[in-house]
Amino acid sequence: MSGDSEVKVRAAVSRGVGMVTSIEDLLLAAPGPGEVRVAIDACAVCHSDLMFLDGGWSIDFPVVLGHEAAGRVVELGEGVDNVAVGDRVVVSLIRACGACRACRRGHDVACTGDLALRNRSPLSDLNGKPVTHGLGTAAFAEQVVVHRSQVASFADSVPAEAAALLGCGVLTGVGAVTNTARVGKGDSVVVIGCGGVGLSVVQGARLAGADPIIAVDPLPAKQEAALRFGATHSTGPDGTTDRLVEATGGHLADHVFITTAAPGAFAGATSMLNRMGALVLVGIPAEGVTVEIDPGVLAVANQRILGSKMGTARLCEDVPRLIGQYQAGLLDLDGMITSTHSLDDIDTAFDEARSGEVIRTVVVFDHADNVKDPSG
Ligand SMILES: [Zn+2]
Ligand SMILES: [Zn+2]
Repeated sequence: MSGDSEVKVRAAVSRGVGMVTSIEDLLLAAPGPGEVRVAIDACAVCHSDLMFLDGGWSIDFPVVLGHEAAGRVVELGEGVDNVAVGDRVVVSLIRACGACRACRRGHDVACTGDLALRNRSPLSDLNGKPVTHGLGTAAFAEQVVVHRSQVASFADSVPAEAAALLGCGVLTGVGAVTNTARVGKGDSVVVIGCGGVGLSVVQGARLAGADPIIAVDPLPAKQEAALRFGATHSTGPDGTTDRLVEATGGHLADHVFITTAAPGAFAGATSMLNRMGALVLVGIPAEGVTVEIDPGVLAVANQRILGSKMGTARLCEDVPRLIGQYQAGLLDLDGMITSTHSLDDIDTAFDEARSGEVIRTVVVFDHADNVKDPSG
């Protein structure tokens, strides 16, 4: 049932670093082979969106950002069999061809396959000029076209705002614990940074049976939030070592997760590690940030440094598991949503996320806008 006509969608268009966002009508191409069109119900603001908006990472403007989303499938390209029209789906930036070496080994986050959407944006302005498909998703828009591997379906009983968080922040945080670091029962864990990703690491560590779980954040409100989400201890950055020594009886941490992009968080992080410990790098700093590491110390202490992009997740496995944990009351998604905004109010959502005072703010779409006739 692949269509051949583009649709008009309202989207939040960012035209340059530091510029306010404009809400514009754009043209969205029909899904090609292996692609799906999804009407977006909710898309959370992630710090990665802000890194592009604020110039920390480079991107081609104009761009539509937004990559932590949930919606409903409205059109299938040729050969799509993992979802059906009408399915409610989580939408993520993780895109896996299924055939390259990484995909064959189950490493979806490392896919190098030559997918059509890697080479062309499905978005253009009304004059036909291309608009960047931000993070391969562009979900600050009424509808998106993404590769079939970027969606995973979920039950009707789960609110879209909650499911959206599984597209990036929660997937990244919980996945870092379960997939990347493989935290076990009784492991001692330090979590540096208690935003949406950090609190998801805290939740993942709690689910894995880690103890103690020491949450570190400069903001007292975030320290309190971490305790609500399952941290056993919380502290500001200056008190980390004391707290760690006290909570572990001097054994230090089996895992230190850095979930912030703040350069200061990386310096000295390995000194918190126990023998056999692992430093898990989750937050992605601005381009050009470097840290010094003493390789001798790491070698002698059998310590590891692990990069963790998107929680080393596979959507087809991780989303159903996380949805199940949410439905069983084990994973708190609703408590992570501090505010919601309409698309027209997206700059307020960006400001709230930038201030660090919200856990997650979600842009919600009026459903009436989402059922436009595909012909335009
Ligand atoms: Zn993200
Ligand atoms: Zn691949």
